[in-house]
Amino acid sequence: MPYVAKDFGKLVGMDGFSETLLKNHFTLYQGYVTNTNKLSDLLGGMLAEGKTATPEYAELKRRFGWEWNGMRLHEFYFENLGGKELKPKGKLVDMLAKEFGSFEKWVENFKACGMAARGWVILGLSAYDGRLHNYCLDTHNYNVPANVVPILVMDVYEHAYVIDYGVKRPPYIDAFMRNIEWAVCSRRFEEIDMARMARVAAS
Ligand code: FE
Repeated sequence: MPYVAKDFGKLVGMDGFSETLLKNHFTLYQGYVTNTNKLSDLLGGMLAEGKTATPEYAELKRRFGWEWNGMRLHEFYFENLGGKELKPKGKLVDMLAKEFGSFEKWVENFKACGMAARGWVILGLSAYDGRLHNYCLDTHNYNVPANVVPILVMDVYEHAYVIDYGVKRPPYIDAFMRNIEWAVCSRRFEEIDMARMARVAAS
């Protein structure tokens, strides 16, 4: 079954993100979905034909991680945008405060990561230690931590902001922080079965 690009058109009109910027970004995301499907077909065909011991297969398998994460990270990103609340509620805000000292200190660190990363920043829950961490990814498929569930994902590639902000990343990060859909992040966080994840991580 091919993967189908999700429609994030409801984000148009969001404060701090122009329609041109968002529509360009949606097009880029749709390209990752198309290429994930193309690669799935190509790799499936090569597997069926017994062509797995070839340089072409090896390179396409490597490429798959790039296209797949390009698809999924953009979905996490767009899905966690469009909110109005500046702060999460419940267990998530409590755990952020516990891990970072306060919610405000977590914000400070997440924004600093946004300046440090070349591609993505992920607030993720590690199944290995059961803690929340901010991770910096240089590209979709580099520095991707194992056993981590994304809770909040921010795209910091130039294409995510250059149309609206030129090379100035800080005002884009501020706009992102104003528009987080915290209800989605809380749901991702609260639906994790920590006990099960810990068993898997330890096995
Ligand atoms: Fe992007």
